[in-house]
Formats: sequence, structure tokens, C-alpha cells
Amino acid sequence: MPMGKPAGVRCVQLDEAQRCRLFGQTGRPAVCVQLKPAADMCGDNAAQAEAWLARLEHATAPLRPPPTPSPQATRGPASGRAMP
Ligand code: SF4
Repeated sequence: MPMGKPAGVRCVQLDEAQRCRLFGQTGRPAVCVQLKPAADMCGDNAAQAEAWLARLEHATAPLRPPPTPSPQATRGPASGRAMP
């Protein structure tokens, strides 16, 4: 993927059988080549592996800034006038 694979997005190199089309080829990303699978990462099936990935993505996601207050929340006490 030219700009890198965003978190939560399926890699375009995964085939229908969930196998990497680049496995064993020089064009496979270095991070993929260096990743060493482990039992706790893979679990017993694809659902457990996907749950592990989801937890990892959640734990490493960038912090989001706090939400901006809505205009209604910053007006102060109600004026008593009806809203248009
Ligand atoms: S190993 Fe890397 S390139 Fe291959 S399918 Fe997984 S994320 Fe994509």
C-alpha cells in the first residue's frame, strides 16, 4: 500500500485464503518480514487473532484531543427566549 496500511484496514496483499501475496518476495514490507508470530498473537483461530490485533490497535492508537464544546454549551445560562 503506497502510503502504508492504516490501522483497521485490511491489507490489499491478503488473498481470499488470508495468505500474503508477497510472502517470500523482496517487495514484502520490512515490518512484515521482521514480525515473529507468537501463540498469544495468533490464538487458536482467525477470530482470536483479529481480536488480538484490535486490542493492539486500540492500545497504540494516537490520543484524540478532547471534543470541542458545542455553541449551546458555551452560551451560559439560558436567556429564556425561544430558539428560532
Ligand atoms: S504480511 Fe504484510 S504485506 Fe503481507 S498481507 Fe500481511 S500486512 Fe500485508
